[in-house]
This record gives sequence, C-alpha cells and structure tokens, in this order.
Amino acid sequence: MGLKPFEESVAAALAESARGDYQAATERLSIALLQCPASHQRGRARVLAQLAHDYPRLGNLQASVRCASEAVALAEHLGDTAVQADALTSLSFVYAQLLMGRDALECGLRALACARSSADSVREAWALNRIGVAYSSLDNPAQACDTTAQALEIALTQGNSELSFSCLNNLAYFWLSRRTEAHRRQDAEALALARTQARKLSEQATAQARASDSHFQVAVAVSNLVEALLGCEEYSAARPLLDEFEALARQHGYLALKLQATVQRALILKANGQIDAALRQLQTLMDSQRDRLPPKLLRGLIYSLYETHKACGDYRAALDHLERHTELERQTARDTMALQTEVMLIRQEVEQAHARAEHAMQDVQRERKRARELERDQLRLRDQAAALDRAAHEDVLTGLHNRRHAEFALPLLIEGARQAGKPISLAMLDVDHFKQVNDDFGHGVGDRVLQQLAQLLRQKVRSADLLARVGGEEFVIALVGTQPDRALEICERLRQAVADYPWGQVVPGLRVRVSIGLAAGEPPAEARLLQERSDRALYAAKRGGRDRVCSG
Ligand code: GH3
Ligand code: MG
Ligand code: MG
Repeated sequence: MGLKPFEESVAAALAESARGDYQAATERLSIALLQCPASHQRGRARVLAQLAHDYPRLGNLQASVRCASEAVALAEHLGDTAVQADALTSLSFVYAQLLMGRDALECGLRALACARSSADSVREAWALNRIGVAYSSLDNPAQACDTTAQALEIALTQGNSELSFSCLNNLAYFWLSRRTEAHRRQDAEALALARTQARKLSEQATAQARASDSHFQVAVAVSNLVEALLGCEEYSAARPLLDEFEALARQHGYLALKLQATVQRALILKANGQIDAALRQLQTLMDSQRDRLPPKLLRGLIYSLYETHKACGDYRAALDHLERHTELERQTARDTMALQTEVMLIRQEVEQAHARAEHAMQDVQRERKRARELERDQLRLRDQAAALDRAAHEDVLTGLHNRRHAEFALPLLIEGARQAGKPISLAMLDVDHFKQVNDDFGHGVGDRVLQQLAQLLRQKVRSADLLARVGGEEFVIALVGTQPDRALEICERLRQAVADYPWGQVVPGLRVRVSIGLAAGEPPAEARLLQERSDRALYAAKRGGRDRVCSG
C-alpha cells in the first residue's frame, strides 16, 4: 500500500470511529496496519494508538493494551509526544476498566505530561478526563470530579463537543456515585448536593449528546439522566426518557443499557408499590439473558433481585440472591485478577520486544562504527605503506630515486626496450674531486652541490627516463628509445650545463665538474652488463682527465 491509500484508509477509519462504528473502524485499521509501508513508522504508531482507543469500546481490553503499549514504545522512539499521549490516554482508560487504578493514574499522568510538552490542549483535556476515570476507579469520586471539571473547562474553551460530552457524562456518573456514597453515609447535605449536581450534569450531557449524531452517546447520557431523576424520585419525568434510551438500546444492541433500563423500570414499579410486577420483569430478564450477560451486569441484576425480594419480605429468596451476588463478586475478583495479570504480561512482553529491538539497533550501530574505524585504519595503513614504499625508493637528500629503485627499475626498462625493439643508454655520472669540495667548503656545501646537481639533471632528463642517485656523488641516467649518438649529445649537454652553472653563487670560489661514462645500443640480456660498460666508460673519462663524457 502506498502512502496515499494508507492515509485515506486511516481517515475513513477515524470517521467510522467518530460515528461509534468501532467494529468497522478496527477492521479497517488492522488491514491498514498490515499494509502500512515499513518506512512509515509514524503512520504505524498513529494506527496503533487509534486501535488502542477503539478496542475497549468492543470490550477487547487485551488487544487495546497490546496496541497501546506498542504505540507508546514506538512514539517514544520517534519522539512523537502527541501519539504517545493518545496511546497512554487509552491505556489509562483500559487500566481503569480493569480496576487497576494505580496503573491507570500513572498512565494518565504520563499522558498529561506528553500532551503538555507538545502544548496540545485537547490531548491535555483527554488525559485529565482519563485521570478522572482513574480516580473514580480508585474510589475517589471527589478527586475524579475535580480533575474532570478541569478537563471540561478546556473542552468548552476549545469547542470540542465529543470531549465535552465525555466530561459531562463522566461528571454525571461520578456525582451519581457520590450520591450513592452520601446515601450510604446518610449525609443529608452531601446527598442533596450530589442529587442536584448529578441531575444538572446529566441534563447537560444529554443536551450535548442530542446535538451529536451518535446514538450511543444519546443512550448513555439519557440513561444517566434517568438514574439521576430516579435518585430524586421524579418517576414520571424519568419514564419517557427511559422508554427512549431503552428503544435505542434494543435497536442498536447496547446490552448493558438494555439491562439498566429493565432494572430502572423495576425500580419505578417498586416505588409505585408494584413489587410483584417489578420482580417479574427482573426475573424474566434473568431467565432469558442469564448466559449472555457479562459478569458485571449479571451481578447488578442479581443485586436488584435481592433488593426487590427483600422489599417483598421474601427473605429466603433475598438471601439466596445475596449469596449468589457475593459468590459472583468473588468470581469477578478472580477473573479481574487473571485479566490484570494477562494485561501486565502483554505490556511487559511488548516493552521487552522493543527493548530487544533497541539493543539490536545499538549493536548494529556499534558494528557500523567499528567497520568505519577499521576502514579508516586500513586507509591510514595504506597511506603509511605508500609513504614507506616511496621512502624505500627515494633518496632523501635530493628527492631523486635511490640505488634500490634503480636496481629494481633498470631490468624492467631494459626488458621493455628489448620487447619494443628500441635502443637503451645508461649514463653513469660522477662528480669530479668531490672529496675536495667537502674538504674546501664543508660537508654542508657538498650537500647543496648534490641537491643543485640533482635539480639540473632533473630539468634536462625526460620524466620517462630513469634518473637516480646511486652513490655519494654518483648518478645514473637511463634513456629508453634514444639512439646512441643522440644519447652522447645529451650527456655532453649535461656535462656542459654542470660546467656552466654559476657555482660561485653557492659559495665564492666553488667550481663543480662531472665525468660521464655512457653505454648505449641494443638492450643487453642482463642489466649488469650495461652497468659494467658504463662503469668502464666512466673510469675512462676519469682517467682521461675528468670533466668529459666517454662512451664504451
Ligand atoms: P673522483 O674525481 O675520482 O671521483 O674524486 P672524488 O673525490 O669525487 O672521489 P672519492 O670517491 O674519493 O670521494 C667521494 C666523496 O664524496 C667522499 C665522500 O665524503 C663524499 N660524499 C659521499 N656522499 C656524500 C654526501 O652525501 N654528502 C657530502 N657532502 N659528501 C659526500
Ligand atoms: Mg665517486
Ligand atoms: Mg667523484
């Protein structure tokens, strides 16, 4: 899938999710996740966070935790605080559903920090909203109300209707809990306040829901309103609303709300003295739905049956139901614990997988760094080897080739010339009475003479020819492809150039002359033969009075 179809698919899923069509949204997102381009990590994190948001609405808390944990790790890695806040917000919600209040609170607070660090007020409000739910699951409805009220304030300033509905609806629910609590404590003042607040907020939530096009929101808000009205004993106001949300619940298959409607209806009947009718309704629901009801709802229904039997004075049946209720509560506690463990394991597993991936990545980076270092070392070694090689073939004083190089190159030149059918000449050049130069002017001047001489020779010899300093004041020149008489001319010119050089400028009174022995002609079988010939010619030049070229 390319990036564009991926983004389109995600957008379609978001729209489905906003309409409350979570089944379609999660299916679409799961496919998008599989087809998300590997390079598009941010897209992947976003889809995972959205799945984490939608799964709890379908009752799949484990899947939500898995997606949320992955999204958190991925977003953290990418430094995407917005997606991290979203995923943590969902995780907090799921933990609250599982009565893992502390974890819910911890995730909510982390989500809040992420949202604040990305200066995103809507995400900040969602985090506050979930922190409210976490407080509620920690049995602290007062703190839950406080936090949710903060979220509501932001939601209203931002004009975000989905968020403000959630805040209003949660606040209504928290005030209903506070009403129950006040009732239990028999705190008349707190009870009056909780009743008024629960009613006011559930009315606001209902108004907000009606303005949206979500049936689910309407059904939930109205059911809370009915609950609030029943708490105020306003049965006649409650009844049409009850009919309304019950119809919605039937039509769209909201099982929990359907059950709540029946329980509330029984409550109204009971309040009107029609206890038998109330009992029949509850019992019918019990008989028809027993196996389909989720544990929490079943427990609620059994508790209502207990209360109704008690109101009838049928204490035996009441006790039976109370015992079943207690047993169910124990079972639920066990189930919740198992689910909590499972969810913690999922979270741990995902985090470990990410830690392993992170380590693998670090290993790869370390290896790469090491490979780069090795490569650098190798280059350095190669440079060093080249420098050593150069040094091995170079004369330090003059920068010309040295004897070693000459011995290496001369046979190759001779062989090349023989194969090409060309002549070769080898000239041996020696400074005359050089010992005297040293003696008269010092060794330093002697060195400068050698350097100057090398420069003169370099200027006169072609780069293809071989020029080397093979001894203290001895040089060889090999000319390839030059005819013998032409080579003789070149040697003569060299000798003349040395003689003409203004040596007096180096040091007054200095005079330098050279003798040259030349061997030229067909390339011989061995380099040694050519060297011996030029040596002999040089000897002849010396013997003949020096400052001259002899050919042999
Ligand atoms: P000839 O004309 O017979 O060649 O006489 P010569 O004095 O040049 O020959 P000899 O072989 O007696 O002396 C060569 C001198 O070259 C001896 C040595 O001190 C000097 N020499 C060799 N290498 C160097 C060097 O690198 N620098 C200097 N300054 N002198 C060197
Ligand atoms: Mg010599
Ligand atoms: Mg000499």
